[in-house]
Amino acid sequence: AQGERLARFLAHAGVASRRHAEELIAQGRVRVNGTIITAQGTRVQPGQDRIVVDGKEIQAKAPHAYLLLHKPAGYVSTVSDPEGRATVLDLLPPELRSLRLYPVGRLDRDTSGLLLLTNDGAFAQHLTHPRYEKEKHYEVQVKGIPTERTLQALRDGVTFTEDDGKHYTSSPARVRKLSNTEQSSWLTLTIHEGRKRQVRRMLQAVDHPVLQLRRVGLGPLTLRGVAPGKWRHLTPAEIQSLL
Ligand code: URA
Repeated sequence: AQGERLARFLAHAGVASRRHAEELIAQGRVRVNGTIITAQGTRVQPGQDRIVVDGKEIQAKAPHAYLLLHKPAGYVSTVSDPEGRATVLDLLPPELRSLRLYPVGRLDRDTSGLLLLTNDGAFAQHLTHPRYEKEKHYEVQVKGIPTERTLQALRDGVTFTEDDGKHYTSSPARVRKLSNTEQSSWLTLTIHEGRKRQVRRMLQAVDHPVLQLRRVGLGPLTLRGVAPGKWRHLTPAEIQSLL
């Protein structure tokens, strides 16, 4: 059956205990979309139906949700885009979109990979706070073949220019070359920070522009089992491990 039993909805919304909510319904004190409802079996759609108790509208509390999304390139990491481009929320089914989820941090439109979505503000703030930032693991294809000296420079810290014109020097990073052809190389790069376009700017600063970028891990999380465009809920243990 669709929706949620009315008494259950009222209990979840904090109006009353389940038993007391049933009494409110029996007493004719509950309206759904303007009509008094006394049938206990009535089901409602939180977020769609207008539910009023004693003249006061009741708002559904969205349960907290924590999603790991495998973002494909071509989607913006915002909730809505003024230019009408596809957003990461377009990848979610409607029942999840109605939970008001938003991305924890950002991936560039052209970047693919691991992105967390939540509607838990405290969780999002904690994860994006510079003091608690988790390791972010990237795989990056760059133009050319970086020398060992260049790889070491990336590890030690390179200076790049941010949007406001200020210079920023990256903190120590882990960097390794995975493979290369004559024209390009794949590297893995692990950083704790998340300045805007940081990986692209770090590699631009050493004259190896990024051709492809994907985030493959965040703290203990990986993309294992989650195909591009797909998502899964975090387990309670995973949520705990990020705090
Ligand atoms: N660094 C970037 O440059 N872009 C991203 O999307 C993530 C990290």
